[in-house]
Amino acid sequence: MLQNCSKRETHHTVRLKNYLKILFYGEIINDLDGFDDGKFLIILYNRMDKKENVVIIGGGAAGMIAAWRAASLGAQVTLLEKNPNPGIKILISGGGKCNITNGNEIQTMLKQFQKNESRFLKFAFHTFTNDQLLTLLQNEGVETYTRDNGKVFPTSHDAEDVVKAFQNLMERNGVEVLLQTPVKEIFRNDDGSFNVKTNRGIISAAKVIIATGGSSYQKTGTTGDGFRWIQKLGHTIVPIRPALTPIILLPAPPSLWQGTPIRECNLMAISLPFDFRQNNGGQAVQGEIVSEWRGDVLITHFGISGPATLEVSRNAYLQFEKGIKIDMCVDFYPELTIEQLDEKIIKEISTNPSRSMITLTEYLVPQKLAEFLLAQLKIDYTKKLNQLSKNERGELVKKLKRFPLGTVKDIPLDRGEVTAGGASLNEVDSTTMESTIVQGLYLCGEVLDIAGPVGGYNLQAAFSTGYVAGDHAATSLR
Ligand SMILES: Cc1cc2nc3c(=O)[nH]c(=O)nc-3n(C[C@H](O)[C@H](O)[C@H](O)COP(=O)(O)OP(=O)(O)OC[C@H]3O[C@@H](n4cnc5c(N)ncnc54)[C@H](O)[C@@H]3O)c2cc1C
Repeated sequence: MLQNCSKRETHHTVRLKNYLKILFYGEIINDLDGFDDGKFLIILYNRMDKKENVVIIGGGAAGMIAAWRAASLGAQVTLLEKNPNPGIKILISGGGKCNITNGNEIQTMLKQFQKNESRFLKFAFHTFTNDQLLTLLQNEGVETYTRDNGKVFPTSHDAEDVVKAFQNLMERNGVEVLLQTPVKEIFRNDDGSFNVKTNRGIISAAKVIIATGGSSYQKTGTTGDGFRWIQKLGHTIVPIRPALTPIILLPAPPSLWQGTPIRECNLMAISLPFDFRQNNGGQAVQGEIVSEWRGDVLITHFGISGPATLEVSRNAYLQFEKGIKIDMCVDFYPELTIEQLDEKIIKEISTNPSRSMITLTEYLVPQKLAEFLLAQLKIDYTKKLNQLSKNERGELVKKLKRFPLGTVKDIPLDRGEVTAGGASLNEVDSTTMESTIVQGLYLCGEVLDIAGPVGGYNLQAAFSTGYVAGDHAATSLR
């Protein structure tokens, strides 16, 4: 406790016959901790009163930009972060390179989100745009570039530059950043202000901005604390679910496949209700595609990852949680119909009739999958192409259009790049980020029920909503 006192605070400790240790900081808001040995630690906290202040909980993308914006408008701002350093999620984003935003038009960006998310984000995305974000960073010396697919990265490929830029912005504008300061609880006072209970004591605030993120990658500090406080304060929490998450398969892929990328395929999550399977007398049935995405898949030791997998995971989970069996399949040739793919193979056969089947298959699919695919089709891999029957060719085409990778064993919340669900968007004013239930309380970033796709959309959502929250919290103090 003592070691955690901020330097600004004066404190005195008094030992009374070694039984009582009293720590007092002026005005009393008491707390009493009992110890197993029957001794007590009485902690008398000072309300670190500051007139017209804004307290921000969470030093991620949303919290840091909110802090900078509010402070730049003249508010006294304190940012509380439980980690020893701010911006940990930014540091691990984009594999450490930080895909900071997307270079598309705002309208196009908004379309990438689910409809209710897109409606909610419209004001924030227009108020603090991707261009404004890049200009802000450029002014702090962070140059960026845009890839063909619209993803924007710092030219240095170093996410730390982005975090440093925000640290500098906060410092220059007088934001007080209290690190290693986990918030335990938030209380609303009768006069409309808040008491924020931390390991350093209680901090009073005229306005509180909750920017505590989601509840995946819990080791980074995002343990879903914000959801609990918000719910206690009367908000609805849309059930928390994984999104942008790798998928664990049963059986796990053969070791030979691990590390194999499948480029530009169509990944499909195919559901087959259990009772339908059982009642169908073992006959082959057509499953329903519950989620699909065109892009790259990476086969790993536990299952699959890569952009297409991450995108499919959110909707696949909605079925998986109902106990529905989900098979993950790949279409290696999404741009070709069955007939066009058949044509392509016929052409290959007529050009190279004496080639072996394994040579053709290694040309059609990633090399490490070729032998397995032929074994599944019961086609001898030494067979010459001109010996392939029409039926065998037909089966090969079908397999190329729907190659099974395994059955979903789990889609773990903790491994999601974002958390789907969170504070219901119906209870937050999208033009201010202020709660419509608790005046003076603001919510921004991933703590909201928003989960965008891969491509820089989630960081932009955190920056735009954080900016709006900081802006309004500060201006409403005036
Ligand atoms: C591996 C990975 C890669 C990603 N890559 C990208 C990418 O390239 N592009 C992209 O757009 N998005 C990416 N994302 C998603 C993106 O990082 C998040 O959506 C975004 O950082 C959310 O910002 P936030 O400020 O809302 O929350 P966070 O950045 O999660 O910040 C919340 C902060 O609150 C703090 N906190 C929580 N509880 C408390 C408490 N009780 N007291 C004090 N502090 C607390 C946490 O320690 C944390 O620092 C990635 C995510 C992951 C996990």
